Amino acid sequence: MKRQSKPLSRISERKLAELGGKMPFSTINGPKKFVRRVSAKQRKRMAARKKLREQWWAEGKRTCGICGREILEFEDMTNDHKLPGSAKSEAPENLQPAHHLCNLLKGSKRNYSRADCLRDLGIQEITA
Ligand SMILES: [Zn+2]
Repeated sequence: MKRQSKPLSRISERKLAELGGKMPFSTINGPKKFVRRVSAKQRKRMAARKKLREQWWAEGKRTCGICGREILEFEDMTNDHKLPGSAKSEAPENLQPAHHLCNLLKGSKRNYSRADCLRDLGIQEITA
């Protein structure tokens, strides 16, 4: 028996039919496996984070809060939550610029030190 191919997205067949068979997003880079439904609240939060990154960049606040090295490209800047998962998680005081990779390495760890990060990155600190 021929295996049925998996649907391209989480959009139901019925919903897709409603849309006239057209995906409600661009498939220019190939079909996406999952449609990321972004709520209005999430969109607002993402916009606020981006605004904060733009502000940091403009102010020259480009030092990664995790590894302490400079962030060289705006696209590599993320909003790190100093205390992940805290109640005031999204408060500007809890956010700091960080490299994509450093933020990824930190994940949701609460006490992830600069030394931990440099070790995970395989960077040896030069001590004079
Ligand atoms: Zn970093």
